[in-house]
Amino acid sequence: MKFEKIQAPKGVREYLPPESEAFEWVRSQLIAPAKAAGYALMELPVFEDTALFSRGVGESTDVVSKEMYTFEDRGGRSITLRPEGTAGVMRAVIENNLDRGQLPVKVWYSGQFFRAERPQAGRYRQFYQVGIEAIGSDDPAIDAEVISVADQAFKNLGLKGYRLEITSLGDAQSRADHRVDLLKYIDALNLDEATKARAEINPLRLFDDKRPEMQEAMSKAPLLMDYLSPESKSHFQTVLKYLDSLNIDYAINPRMVRGLDYYTGTTFEFIHMGLGAQSAIGGGGRYDKLMSELGGQDLSGIGWGLGVDRTILAAEEEGVIPADLGNADLFIIPLGTQTVAIKIATDLRSAGKVVEIAFGERGLKGAMKAADKSGAKYVLVLGETEVNSGSVELKTMSSGEVKSVRISDL
Ligand code: AMP
Repeated sequence: MKFEKIQAPKGVREYLPPESEAFEWVRSQLIAPAKAAGYALMELPVFEDTALFSRGVGESTDVVSKEMYTFEDRGGRSITLRPEGTAGVMRAVIENNLDRGQLPVKVWYSGQFFRAERPQAGRYRQFYQVGIEAIGSDDPAIDAEVISVADQAFKNLGLKGYRLEITSLGDAQSRADHRVDLLKYIDALNLDEATKARAEINPLRLFDDKRPEMQEAMSKAPLLMDYLSPESKSHFQTVLKYLDSLNIDYAINPRMVRGLDYYTGTTFEFIHMGLGAQSAIGGGGRYDKLMSELGGQDLSGIGWGLGVDRTILAAEEEGVIPADLGNADLFIIPLGTQTVAIKIATDLRSAGKVVEIAFGERGLKGAMKAADKSGAKYVLVLGETEVNSGSVELKTMSSGEVKSVRISDL
C-alpha cells in the first residue's frame, strides 16, 4: 500500500533553510529598534475568544466578516485564530492590570497571524508580523516615536524604496461631523445592498472599495481630513512637526483607510514601491477607544504591525539581504580523528564560533564539497598525522590560502 503525500495547507508561508536565515535576520532587524526604544516583549496566545476580534477589530471589516479562522472548541466556546495583534495585547493589558502601573505601557510582539484571504504573492493565510503598542498616552511625541521606530527598522535593513503615508482619522467629534456629510453623499449614490450595509457600519470603508466604479463614485466624497476638530488638527500638525525634525519623509494621504475599524487620530502605512499589488509592508495608528470598548478604562493607544513576509520580499527586491547569513566560521573534516574534531568543535562553539563537522566518512572529496556548500570561512582537514604533530592546516576558503596552526592556538 502506498500512502499519498500530505501537503501544507493552502496559502501558508513556510521558511526553510537557507531562506529561513533571511527570515530570522529580517525579523530581528524589525525588532531591534523597538527594544532600543524600551518596548518589552509580550508573548500572547495565537487563539482568543472570537468576541475579542468582532468587538475590537469591527464587524464591517473584511478581516472579521470574511477572513477569520473561527471554530468551536471542545467546550463549545467560539475561538478565533488571531488575525492581528493589537486586540490581544489590549485584552492582556486589561486582564493583567498593566494599565494601572507606569504609563505608557510599551510592548512588542512577533509571531503568526491568520486571515483566510485569497493567497497570492505577499498575501498568505498564515503570515508573520512584528508589532509594537504604546498604551496610555496621547502625547503626539509618542506617535512620532512609534512611527520612527518602524522607519528605523526598515532603514536598518537597508531598505530605501518605501514611503510613509499618513493621515488623521480625528477624534469622535471630527468623525461624527464627517459621517453626517459622508452618509448624505453615499445616500445619493446608487449602491447595491451589501455595500449599503457596509457603509452603515463604517462609511469610511467605501474609500477602500477597490472596484473601479466605486473608486469613481467616491472620488468626490467629503474627506475626513477637512472635518478635523481644532484639537485633532493641532495633534496631527504636532506629529508632522516631530517627523520633520526627525527627517522622516511622509506623504499625507487623506483617502487612506485601514483594514481594521479601531483606528482614530494618527494613522499610517508603509508602502514599498518594488512590490506588486500587496505593497503595504506595515501599518498602524491610534486606537483611542479600543481599551474602553474592550471593557477597560478610557485610555488611548497607538501601535503598528509590520509584515515580516513582505519585508523579506522587499529586502530581496532591493538586494539587501547579506549573502553569508548562517554560514559557518569553520568546517572541520576529520579523517579518522572524530574524537579530536568533536573536542575542537565544542571548544570553539563555546567560544562563540559557528563550527560544523563533516559526518559519515565520505572521504576528503565529498567532505570538501560539503564544506564548500556550508559557506564556511575556514576549513580544517584533520588527519591523524596532523593530530599527532599538534599542528593542523587551516584553509581560507575565499582565497584558497593554507596556513599551518597549532591546535592549541585555534
Ligand atoms: P494590517 O494589520 O492589515 O495593517 O497588516 C499589517 C501588515 O501585515 C501589512 O502591512 C502587511 O505587511 C502584513 N500583512 C497583512 N495581511 C497579510 C497577509 N495576508 N499576508 C502577508 N502579510 C500580511
